[in-house]
Amino acid sequence: MRRIEALMSPYIDSSELSYINANAALDPIEISAEMARMIERSLYFSEISRGAFDITYASVGYAYDYRARTRPDDAAIERKLSAIDYHHIDLDGNRIRFRHAEVRIDLGGIAKGYAVDRAADIVTAECGIDEALISAGGDSRIIGDRRGRLWMIGIQHPRNPSELALRLPLANSAISTSGDYERFFIENGERVHHIINPTTGRSASGSWSATVTGPDAMTTDALSTTIFILGADKGMALIETLDGIDAIIIDNQGKLHYSSGFEPPSSEG
Ligand code: ADP
Ligand code: MG
Repeated sequence: MRRIEALMSPYIDSSELSYINANAALDPIEISAEMARMIERSLYFSEISRGAFDITYASVGYAYDYRARTRPDDAAIERKLSAIDYHHIDLDGNRIRFRHAEVRIDLGGIAKGYAVDRAADIVTAECGIDEALISAGGDSRIIGDRRGRLWMIGIQHPRNPSELALRLPLANSAISTSGDYERFFIENGERVHHIINPTTGRSASGSWSATVTGPDAMTTDALSTTIFILGADKGMALIETLDGIDAIIIDNQGKLHYSSGFEPPSSEG
């Protein structure tokens, strides 16, 4: 996980990501195969979500600092908004170029899931372990089960940290949650948080939290961020088109929405 962070962190000047952001708008540059695959996968999630998931969100997103409680003002967002568009990314094999001078990318919506998957590969293939739970913040991967029983994964209530919104029984699965309650500050009554709607350059406001289960954590990580932004209606419509993926969204009224694979049995009488 440290290796991946050193490669993909926007806060580390020597990371490959920082190198790309500093140079790809000037000339096409050669990048590692691993980075190229991450970006390619990110572009896939942009395609299926019509741009809700977009790593060029960082063209505006870099100007938010949740710890320092600072955000770009309206004029700054206006100036940079046209740089948010994944079509600006020209990826050809291991060569990348940005078609717009102000483009920046950030893999924060997908890299943690990828790190969990890599850890899972190492634990199973190199250590021969067949039952494990690997977790990095909001992204987890369950390998096997818990000695013949299911793991019960709790999802925090988005407005009451001491309470669980629900529990999910899982085995052999990845699970990710994106929420507006981990990195945020309140300004003039408005919650400013780290999931950015690419259309507006501002924090997405339709959801409090989004949880996705699926075969691997890179997929569930990207999709939890994606459907958080899309909101319950569009987000669930997208989930229903994908095989082996399920989701629960808590909307901005606190209402729970389940995909068909999670239909709560009690609601069927
Ligand atoms: P975390 O588990 O770190 O809270 P999430 O999976 O909830 O992460 O995703 C939030 C992160 O995704 C942000 O910190 C940012 O790096 C990135 N991000 C924010 N908005 C977008 C977007 N529209 N498209 C892709 N990635 C985004
Ligand atoms: Mg995510």
